[in-house]
Amino acid sequence: MFLQKLSRCLLKGLSNNISRPFSLHKLSEEHLMLQKTCRDFAEAELKPIAAQLDREHKFPADQIQKMGELGLLAINVSEKYGGSEQDSLALAVAVEEIARACGGTGTIMSVHNCLYVNLLDRCGTEEQKETFLKPFTSGTLGCFALSEPDAGSDVGAMSTIARLDGNSYILNGTKSWVTSGAEGKAAIVFATVDKTLKHKGITGFLVPLPSPGLSLGKKEDKMGIRSSSTCNLILEDVRIPKENVLGTIGGGFKMAMEQLDKARVGIASQALGIAQAALEIAVEYASQRKAFGQPINQLQAVKLRIADMAVKLEAARLLVWRAAACCDEPQRTTKESSMAKLAASEAATFVSHSAIQILGGMGYVTDLPAERYYRDARITEIYAGVNDVQRILIGDLIIKELQH
Ligand SMILES: Cc1cc2nc3c(=O)[nH]c(=O)nc-3n(C[C@H](O)[C@H](O)[C@H](O)COP(=O)(O)OP(=O)(O)OC[C@H]3O[C@@H](n4cnc5c(N)ncnc54)[C@H](O)[C@@H]3O)c2cc1C
Repeated sequence: MFLQKLSRCLLKGLSNNISRPFSLHKLSEEHLMLQKTCRDFAEAELKPIAAQLDREHKFPADQIQKMGELGLLAINVSEKYGGSEQDSLALAVAVEEIARACGGTGTIMSVHNCLYVNLLDRCGTEEQKETFLKPFTSGTLGCFALSEPDAGSDVGAMSTIARLDGNSYILNGTKSWVTSGAEGKAAIVFATVDKTLKHKGITGFLVPLPSPGLSLGKKEDKMGIRSSSTCNLILEDVRIPKENVLGTIGGGFKMAMEQLDKARVGIASQALGIAQAALEIAVEYASQRKAFGQPINQLQAVKLRIADMAVKLEAARLLVWRAAACCDEPQRTTKESSMAKLAASEAATFVSHSAIQILGGMGYVTDLPAERYYRDARITEIYAGVNDVQRILIGDLIIKELQH
């Protein structure tokens, strides 16, 4: 109860500081307090059960409810709609702390905040916000359904069709890899009103879950982030009223890409949390494990490895915080967000890989969490835009920038 009150107070207090100049080398007092609140919550509620959630592929329903009560599921959303009205750095700091304890819960939190409530807050009408945003700020989850079995990076190849029929659209198709698809109570589903228009036909629809004609595919059996659930949404003649069009007809591609700029900072923050946890277990183990008559942290090879891990992680964190600060500005943040996502996800795979090396055999078994961090880290190079695509985006922008 105390924690809930403290968090709500902190989140409210922070709202006055949105325009405060942001320093790259240290967090403000308010952000530090939020970080501590999230860390205390995650240490008490998530860390002790993270291995079990992973093993049993179990969704953390009670913990998500508590996170909703703490205001962690609508961090950037206006208070008017029940959100905490915080800046993007607050969201980055909070996601990192949750992911440090449980990578899968970091996914659930990041997707819900960055790709559901924030998108509705940015693009929804007043009526849409009453129905699809307000009830989703305190524990009820929403989803973002852009990908399809044959359209991942190539979003323009989307084939889910929305056909106008009187005052409704009839949706048919399959959306794949939907995070929280089985637990969510609504999804932003992207479909094309005319496949020949390619990107320009793509439109966002607000779809209640469940809806007549909509069924769930099997729960995916994933390598990591196993406490989050992922499934297909299969749409067969799902009737959606015209009022549920999010944004404009044909404006869905641009809307989704703009939102993904912001969401990449969420995924990058999740990657930081996983990397931080991996660095901590490596350092702790190295101080206890003895070889050749001394703790292995006295071996130069181990020190060098720890240094490389820490430098990659800190460098990525600076990029993530910079990108988060940029997200609160009106202009697009593609370069900053893609750099942050690329650096943080590769830091997470590097640091978790290195942690296993430092733990030796104990890194390879489930008695200690290093192997889970390694599995959890891997997805951050794939979702919210594969890293190859991030490199292409960054390369294009840098060439443009430096040629003029
Ligand atoms: C656990 C999980 C959760 C997810 N959650 C969601 C969600 O909630 N909502 C949602 O909409 N989607 C979600 N996704 C989908 C995710 O965003 C896609 O998997 C991702 O965008 C990549 O698409 P793809 O899997 O079709 O890979 P593809 O697009 O087929 O890419 C495969 C590989 O091809 C190469 N490649 C492809 N295009 C290019 C290019 N232009 N340049 C260079 N190389 C390229 C890259 O090496 C890439 O890694 C999730 C996926 C997973 C695994």
